[in-house]
Amino acid sequence: MTTIRLHNTRTRQKEVFEPLDPANVRMYVCGPTVYDRAHLGNARPVVVFDVLYRLLRHVYGADHVTYVRNFTDVDDKINARAAESGRPISAITAETTQWFLDDMAALGALEPDHMPRATQYIPQMVAMIEALIAAGHAYVAEGHVLFAVESYADYGRLSGRTVADMIAGARVEVAPYKRNPMDFVLWKPSGDDLPGWPSPWGRGRPGWHIECSAMSHELLGESFDIHGGGGDLIFPHHENEIAQSRCAHPEGDFARYWLHNEMLQVEGKKMSKSLGNFFTVRDLLDQGVPGEVIRFVFLSTHYRKPMDWTAEKAREAERTLRDMHRVLARMLPHVVPQPENVNDYFIDALASDMNTHEYIKHLHGFLSLAEDEDVVDRFAAAQALADALAFLGLFNLEFARSDIPVFDPEKLQRLALRLSELREAAKKKKDFSDVDEFKDKLKANGVEVRMSKAGVELVPGPDFDPAKLEALK
Ligand code: AMP
Ligand code: ZN
Repeated sequence: MTTIRLHNTRTRQKEVFEPLDPANVRMYVCGPTVYDRAHLGNARPVVVFDVLYRLLRHVYGADHVTYVRNFTDVDDKINARAAESGRPISAITAETTQWFLDDMAALGALEPDHMPRATQYIPQMVAMIEALIAAGHAYVAEGHVLFAVESYADYGRLSGRTVADMIAGARVEVAPYKRNPMDFVLWKPSGDDLPGWPSPWGRGRPGWHIECSAMSHELLGESFDIHGGGGDLIFPHHENEIAQSRCAHPEGDFARYWLHNEMLQVEGKKMSKSLGNFFTVRDLLDQGVPGEVIRFVFLSTHYRKPMDWTAEKAREAERTLRDMHRVLARMLPHVVPQPENVNDYFIDALASDMNTHEYIKHLHGFLSLAEDEDVVDRFAAAQALADALAFLGLFNLEFARSDIPVFDPEKLQRLALRLSELREAAKKKKDFSDVDEFKDKLKANGVEVRMSKAGVELVPGPDFDPAKLEALK
């Protein structure tokens, strides 16, 4: 069996992955708060953990993996959205949940086995909070229930901080009823205008962290294998989940391997509305960027490195996917993708802490083999390429069929270089027929040719057609 190695945030080391039960490998990933369209950064953990899910299913069998990703459908941001729009909360969360599912499906992400919504698990949260109070890990103060961080000696282990460091560094909500400023809310009171449920502490609603502890316990048990999310969740969200779950179920380990993806940036800057570089997955899809292209760009950077989204990377990814599918399309019907047969080169790359960068290098390797007329078994290479594209959710023959080509500014530069080389050669042999012929071809494709002593410049003219230009070498 393939040995999978994963970097565990808890130990800060790559470890051999050994599931508690190979017949039921269990993974929990924190999902979105549903009040708006998912932005591009939100999609990164979805794609990253989708790759891990595919790998686990391949190694342990599709029926032997349980993947849970939640929807946070009770949250103050949702309440605020409802208040400002005048729409009911349930309408907002239902709509946004469906948007999320549609957008992530467009990125080729498989649906998890369970997608629990927080509001469906309120009784389990209440029960867990009661257990925490009974065990002396939580206390009631002014209608709130708070977790007492000093009652859990390992608080801070995951993020490697002490409670004193945290107090110094964090912007914590200072509330007079907290025994320690780092104590966090398990339950808070709701007025009549806010969503609320009956509880032993009065009508109220849960804090954010308790939902993941309650839902993962209900669906995966008190010990499970993998817990994932974006790196921004390590503190406080995951630290708090650990404290709650370990204290409510001291006989369990909670999650054994903690995986976190690094953040996504746009053109080298943090994505933010004020910088004008904030966009949603849907914005990109509506602009005609195929989901596979977004996926390919994401996977070209290792999940533990910051990922920089750039328009140039998207164009490059689209060109690559086109090159690959055009080669495959020429070999149809001999090549039909069979993702379950994916070559071990690819699985080994993923088994090494999800080295998707390496996986993509192998794709390029097999593309070169499949393109090379001199390679004896080009069909086998093409088959391996098709299998591996399909395995990672990147196979789509539309890339070969589409006649809307990608505009490639570098293509014009390459053609300009070719023209100046022809000109140099022509000067030597005093015969400019090659140059003239090439110039005519360019002009026929709507490219304006400007030649001077200083060099050659090619400018797209009004009849410019990048599709025809593709054929020019
Ligand atoms: P939220 O809805 O803000 O709780 O975020 C949902 C998921 O998206 C979490 O796993 C976050 O860690 C992740 N996330 C949010 N922003 C980014 C970003 N810029 N890059 C990568 N992941 C992000
Ligand atoms: Zn969570």
